[in-house]
Amino acid sequence: MRNELEKLMQTVAAGAAATASHTGIAEFDPRVLAAMREVLRHEFVPESSLSLAYVDVPLPIGHGQTISQPYIVALMTHLLALKPGDHTLEVGGGSGYQAAIMGQLANEVHTVEIVPALARACRERLARLGVHNVFVHEGDGTLGLPEKAPFDAILVAAAAREVPPALIEQLKPGGRMVIPVGEVDTVQSLQLLQKDLHGNYIEHNLLPVRFVPLIGS
Ligand code: SAH
Repeated sequence: MRNELEKLMQTVAAGAAATASHTGIAEFDPRVLAAMREVLRHEFVPESSLSLAYVDVPLPIGHGQTISQPYIVALMTHLLALKPGDHTLEVGGGSGYQAAIMGQLANEVHTVEIVPALARACRERLARLGVHNVFVHEGDGTLGLPEKAPFDAILVAAAAREVPPALIEQLKPGGRMVIPVGEVDTVQSLQLLQKDLHGNYIEHNLLPVRFVPLIGS
């Protein structure tokens, strides 16, 4: 397993180099790669896909949803530039894999998942794995999580037609959001949205990506 994980990490690192002309990132932050070595992906995939847990592909997790491709997880986590004290939000908890990796780098992660069965399974899995700083909320993440806002960083793990206004509102000045934006069933653009200290924000389009769509408002 360790061997497979190491190979995957090499593939992920090579992916950064291969996409550097789009993203401007030649190398992923070593802390992101270290976090991905700690969070064992085979704990997050269904038994039927275990043999593919350390292959750089998305995998089905039931309910028409997927656990993201490791390279994409690395890229999105890198873009968030998480700091140890950060209070963070993920929309689209799914298996909990991405949230657990954020949990390695931030103080606290709140993840919102709209499919009740996935939210329950995610909560149980994270408890079993002893992940104590990731909190799973069932609901529509396009509304954010007003009771826990504002956030230093927000990661959206499903495609949105446009950036949900509630999420922009719930991002702290100086905060960062990573989100795939575009039409469903086609290629979206992975966007990094940065809010400055005055609350103004700029969006950077980084890479064509393909995500499952956000469900909800
Ligand atoms: N981050 C996940 C990937 C999940 S795929 C992982 O690491 O496994 C996207 C997830 O977003 C799916 O589980 C889907 O059910 C969820 N989702 C879709 N629309 C949502 C919404 N409006 N609010 C919260 N979760 C949503």
